[in-house]
Amino acid sequence: MPVGNSDQNKRTLTNRPRLRYAPSPTGDPHVGNIRQAVWSWLHAKRYGGDFIVRLEDTDQSRAQPGADKRILDSLRWLGVEWDEGPDIGGEYAPYIQSHRLDLYHDHIKMLLKNDAARRCFCSPERLTEIREEQQANKLPPGIRDCCDIAPEDAEARAAAGESYVVRFKTPREGTTVATDLLRGDISFENSTLDDFVLLKSDGFPTYHLAHVVDDHAMDITLVTRGEEWISSLPRHALLFDAFGYDRPEYAHASVIKAPGGGKLSKRDGAKSILEYAEDGYLPETLLNFLCLTGWGHGDQTLFSRSDLLSLFDMSDITLASATFDHDKLAWLNGTYIRALDENVFVTSLKRQLELDLPVDVPRPLDEALIESIAPLIQERITLMTDAVALVDFFWQSKISTPPPEDFLVKKWRDRAQEASATLERVGTRLNDLPDSSWNTSEIEALLRNLAEELSLKAGELLSLVRTAVTGKRISPPLFESMEIVGKGLVVERINEASSSLS
Ligand code: GLU
Repeated sequence: MPVGNSDQNKRTLTNRPRLRYAPSPTGDPHVGNIRQAVWSWLHAKRYGGDFIVRLEDTDQSRAQPGADKRILDSLRWLGVEWDEGPDIGGEYAPYIQSHRLDLYHDHIKMLLKNDAARRCFCSPERLTEIREEQQANKLPPGIRDCCDIAPEDAEARAAAGESYVVRFKTPREGTTVATDLLRGDISFENSTLDDFVLLKSDGFPTYHLAHVVDDHAMDITLVTRGEEWISSLPRHALLFDAFGYDRPEYAHASVIKAPGGGKLSKRDGAKSILEYAEDGYLPETLLNFLCLTGWGHGDQTLFSRSDLLSLFDMSDITLASATFDHDKLAWLNGTYIRALDENVFVTSLKRQLELDLPVDVPRPLDEALIESIAPLIQERITLMTDAVALVDFFWQSKISTPPPEDFLVKKWRDRAQEASATLERVGTRLNDLPDSSWNTSEIEALLRNLAEELSLKAGELLSLVRTAVTGKRISPPLFESMEIVGKGLVVERINEASSSLS
């Protein structure tokens, strides 16, 4: 790969957007981080470009085993597809920074040669001293001019094995102007900047160096990242300039705030994407929700993947901090669940119940049973994980009869005997229903007639039956559920409930 030859290195693909997601494998990516990935992917795809995943693992002390896999799994779960990346390679491989060390070292050599960088041998104690002095004298923080060693001497000391870092020689005067797609030109006084580290004493580059080198080498055209990087932007601009490379465009997004303002904590939603998956959210929901947190298109709230792919433009993201709106997330999820194609819902439900039903329920679960239950609950759940509590009774050959207080509410308060006798009547009548008539409408007709005969409101009778058959006060539609559970079990549960109350 050529280094620092600006003519050779002028972008050849100027019109083809290339955007990257450059996570550090230090843990599971949370919502704000993944939002940048999603936005980059959408923008690249809308304009016929490429989306690249690059692992930034140069901070070896923070790397977490398995994080790289979970990052890619998060993207896959959302349905975000990358054109180049650590797992699939590509024209600009490798896509893992620790595999590109030679390239960074070549760039360091070039900067040292051009006197744009210097080796620094200062001990941690010396640097602390400088910082303390700055603080005492109310000077701006940042290491500058900490040592001044002739390049030949520095090279000799390095060759002799002395530990050092390489720092950028930031100009002391003048102004660096960098452009942000959303914020316009931003000016930085060079006098406020530091001689930032490019190469650490362990031989690994810092983020500043590595990402500038790679964004150039990989022909990245637009970088989107969090606004916390704005203060580093002049450093990056100066580095691009020092190499003679064109700078990419930048869009620094505002952070996502907690509902009451302030930093988004785990409790407010700063969870990882895979936790949302485990908590019963659909990928469609998260994709829609993440895009809407800081971007919009008129009044539209529901965006399919293809809507997003045809509408999203990075320059439309809002500068105002978006709030993480949990209610909206839940509402969206319920909406997406209801809108799912029946077959897709059956598949999701099966997957979820395989995870959530007690271990003594034999797997794989009976697909036909899930198909009959699915329409009863698709309208009633907000999270896929809500399903198990609603439907577990379909798999229990024996439910533990609920305690009397679950039956003895409203009309039945303090009337256990009456409730018991009523359930006994229900059991007898249902038992008399011929097997061939065991279907939703016959069951409904029977129970409604019986309520009338007993001078009960339908709801009063059905509340007893519901608790007896499903073990719950709230359940999927009762008559349909009874048909699915089957006559034998239904009658058995009702009789058991009756005797438990007598
Ligand atoms: N590795 C950096 C991070 O994860 C990337 C920032 C950027 O997108 O440039 O924060």
